[in-house]
Amino acid sequence: MSTHNGSSSTSTILQTALWNAKQAAQRLGLNENVVHQLTEPTERIQTRVHPLLPDGRMLHVQVFVVRHNDVLGPAKGGIRMTPSVSLDEVTGLAMEMTWKTSLIGVPFGGGKAGICCDPTQLNPIEKEILMRSFTRGVRRHIGPEIYVPAPDMGTNEGDMGHIRDCISYSAGMSITMGCYVTGKPVVLGGIVGRREATGNGVAATVAAACERLNRRISDLRVAVQGFGNVGSVAAMAMAERGARVVAVSDVAGGTYCKDGLDVARLVEYVRQTGGVAGFAGGQDVPRDNVLETDCDVLIPAAAGSVVTEQNAGRIRAAIIAEGANAPLTPPADEILNQRGVFIIPDILCNAGGVFVSYLEYTQETQRDQMTRDEVQRRLFDRMQTTFADVYDRAQRQHETMRHAAMDIAVSRVVDGIMARGLLP
Ligand code: GLU
Repeated sequence: MSTHNGSSSTSTILQTALWNAKQAAQRLGLNENVVHQLTEPTERIQTRVHPLLPDGRMLHVQVFVVRHNDVLGPAKGGIRMTPSVSLDEVTGLAMEMTWKTSLIGVPFGGGKAGICCDPTQLNPIEKEILMRSFTRGVRRHIGPEIYVPAPDMGTNEGDMGHIRDCISYSAGMSITMGCYVTGKPVVLGGIVGRREATGNGVAATVAAACERLNRRISDLRVAVQGFGNVGSVAAMAMAERGARVVAVSDVAGGTYCKDGLDVARLVEYVRQTGGVAGFAGGQDVPRDNVLETDCDVLIPAAAGSVVTEQNAGRIRAAIIAEGANAPLTPPADEILNQRGVFIIPDILCNAGGVFVSYLEYTQETQRDQMTRDEVQRRLFDRMQTTFADVYDRAQRQHETMRHAAMDIAVSRVVDGIMARGLLP
């Protein structure tokens, strides 16, 4: 019997999200009632599920669903499965989703779910059992008009397939009526290109930044922290655009090559061995050195709060593309801004995933099918126009990209509150 408990301590990610929201509220001069509506989560669910595993063990797993805000549409956001995920972390991430969906211009609110368990300790059958328990446990909090989950750290396409099946099976139907979950396998109504969307979107924002900053992509040396779904695809996309990916790390190690790693070979190596360490095309380096690599672009694409006031001074990149959610703490952000580092904020940089989730949602709702070309084209167009909106505002108002992105996102949610009206 094993017990998983979410820590209840206030998460740094929540503190970062609140800080960014309150700063935006101040810049926009919002009144305190509106600030209250923007910063307080609409609903926070905390419950436990008790999956029984084939070997007779029963797990007792804490799970969370947070709807932060649904003024602009149903709450949208992924399911994070880590041993340390807490209700506060999920709340902070849900708040980020509110701004991300608003900024990228899709009619969704912000939500997130958490499953307090280490996915690396589960075999495929055990993980499927846990995903089905989770789905049944929070069933009434999931729906096309309520909260629509997707993959996040520790969950993937296959897990979304089990959620979809669990819901349609319980209703005795082959399909669900509407889109209950995105990021599903394509054979179950998922959309082509969703898995790569976040990483491709990250690369699109780096390309847009290079245009504005007069830098050639072929001159860029890129370091990527995290080699999962976001980091590996972003690295691949940057290499395809001609950049040199000089350093990559994952949870277990790092690899470095001054002349550029062969990313396609590295992806294949990771598929076979499970990690980047020992890759023959690079030299092994300690995992944490990768953040401080001598490079032009740093893509943190793993956990939150990895750049703090402790290591911000040692970051050498000129551009930081936030593939992860909240990778910089506010003091680190301040230090890097003062040094003139160009930061592409998370709610812009990694919004490609949720944008393509919206395409999946519309495809399923309309019982339509989109081609890979159409998905790619719409993703790149949206990343580019949103980047331009944020960049233009930042230039006009003499503010950072993060401030400009937050101000656009928060203003739209405020417009939504006003358009709905203040009466019940
Ligand atoms: N988990 C991803 C994110 O943080 C995707 C969310 C979604 O597609 O709903 O943006």
